[in-house]
Amino acid sequence: MAKVIAIANQKGGVGKTTTAVNLGTGLAEEGKKVLLIDADPQGSLTISLGNQHPDKLENTLVDIIARVVNEEDIEERYAVIKFKDGVDLIPSNIELSAVEISLVNTMSRELVLKSYIDSVRDEYDYIIIDCMPSLGIMTVNALACADTVLIPVQAAYLPVKGLQQLIKTIYTVKRRLNPNLEIEGILLTMVDNRTNYAKDIVLEVNDVYGKTIPVFPIEIPLSVRAAEISSMAKSIYDYDPKGKAAFAYMSLTKEVLAHGC
Ligand code: ATP
Ligand code: MG
Repeated sequence: MAKVIAIANQKGGVGKTTTAVNLGTGLAEEGKKVLLIDADPQGSLTISLGNQHPDKLENTLVDIIARVVNEEDIEERYAVIKFKDGVDLIPSNIELSAVEISLVNTMSRELVLKSYIDSVRDEYDYIIIDCMPSLGIMTVNALACADTVLIPVQAAYLPVKGLQQLIKTIYTVKRRLNPNLEIEGILLTMVDNRTNYAKDIVLEVNDVYGKTIPVFPIEIPLSVRAAEISSMAKSIYDYDPKGKAAFAYMSLTKEVLAHGC
């Protein structure tokens, strides 16, 4: 039975997709079977994993959602793209934004993704959902089927207000839709330890949230190499295996494994 981890933060550009790629491939390096789900109409995860033209893909998460809503059968590996051994992808493209609107009139609209994920849980060890930068219905769908949420926070501005809103949404989903939902942890990303400002933010996040929400002890450093992989169809372990970002993401992977299922 897979553990389902949603990677969410409604703030854009905080490292959600980069974390999905490198946590997902990291878990596969550790021998786990991983499904990555792109739940963002920008299709960044889909592009990162080598599909340069998401709009030309025949089947995506959009088609899966349509089939769930219409109560149609979904055959095995429908819409799944194999990225590499142990890592599958369900891609997305811009059409997903229309689905968001169409779900408004669907019964149990928050549980559409859960219905699909429950049907594939047995085939994987980890299912990682890369959320879009909003707290709309797709993100609520991801939270409603996840076991845990991993929250990347960019150490470049004081994130306190936005984080409060996200945490409130997580607890609302937990109360109303998914009582088992837990927070995997806050992950500080793009940390530039040369600046006092970054260090202050790391301290502040630990100070304000550390008592109630786990904050990963490992931070992801600011790294040009990490930024470059978004167009390379490679994980950080293949692209720059000896670099500090690869080390940090492997440490994160081991931490997530240690948290168990
Ligand atoms: P969105 O909200 O748009 O989906 P996101 O939260 O998924 O964004 P990413 O796409 O992972 O964020 O990262 C935003 C940008 O920062 C990308 O250009 C990415 O390559 C770059 N980036 C990610 N991680 C790092 C890092 N550790 N150091 C430097 N740049 C990074
Ligand atoms: Mg993204």
